[in-house]
Amino acid sequence: MAERLQKVIAEAGIASRRAAEKLITAGRVRVDGKVVTQLGTKVETFSNITVDGEPIERESHHTYLFYKPRGVVSTAHDDKGRKTVVDYFADLPYRLYPVGRLDYDTSGALILTNDGALANYLMHPKNEVDKVYVARIHGILTADELKSLKQGVKLGKFKSRPARVKILKTDQRKDRQIVQLTIHEGHYHQVKRMLKAVGHPVEKLSREQYGFLTLEGLTSGRRRELSKQEVDKLK
Ligand code: URA
Repeated sequence: MAERLQKVIAEAGIASRRAAEKLITAGRVRVDGKVVTQLGTKVETFSNITVDGEPIERESHHTYLFYKPRGVVSTAHDDKGRKTVVDYFADLPYRLYPVGRLDYDTSGALILTNDGALANYLMHPKNEVDKVYVARIHGILTADELKSLKQGVKLGKFKSRPARVKILKTDQRKDRQIVQLTIHEGHYHQVKRMLKAVGHPVEKLSREQYGFLTLEGLTSGRRRELSKQEVDKLK
């Protein structure tokens, strides 16, 4: 994948993006032996880049699927000192970032990566990467409510895009239902807000699938690195 030269230099940890631009315009950077002074020049993953004659170490990309437990935050840092998903990756020699968020009390499939372009791709609704949630809700959805969810519901200033909805189980006696919701967006508390908007607060939420990736083979708190083929298939 071609990336901008100053970004690659910055990501190698040699300089900030701004300082990397200065190194380039000062003629101190070579790509495959040739001095490049043009900012924004695209370089390939295999391009050989030197700064003042020293080759830079390019960070290779790593992407993991993680089964996030409930009771863990999915930011890299937490002001309240709670356990974060990044704590589960502390043994690795590279830093990974969660792609989007799962709430503290939501469990399930979370991708962590150091590939920024991949993260942006996965999060953008236009790329229609399925995020499949299973929610246990209060009450039982009526046909009209089901239709609203499928068409998109108003959540403050925006309307959710159409969702796929499937009823998995209905418990008339306890007045509870288990529903599967597939969406492509990732707004704050989106699934909980969508269901609440049609009158059914969520009691328990998990994300069962991310793109084609299920949690099969993983247990809560465990991770696995994705192969290049799997990452390619996500795109
Ligand atoms: N929607 C929510 O409401 N919570 C999550 O954690 C993910 C999606």
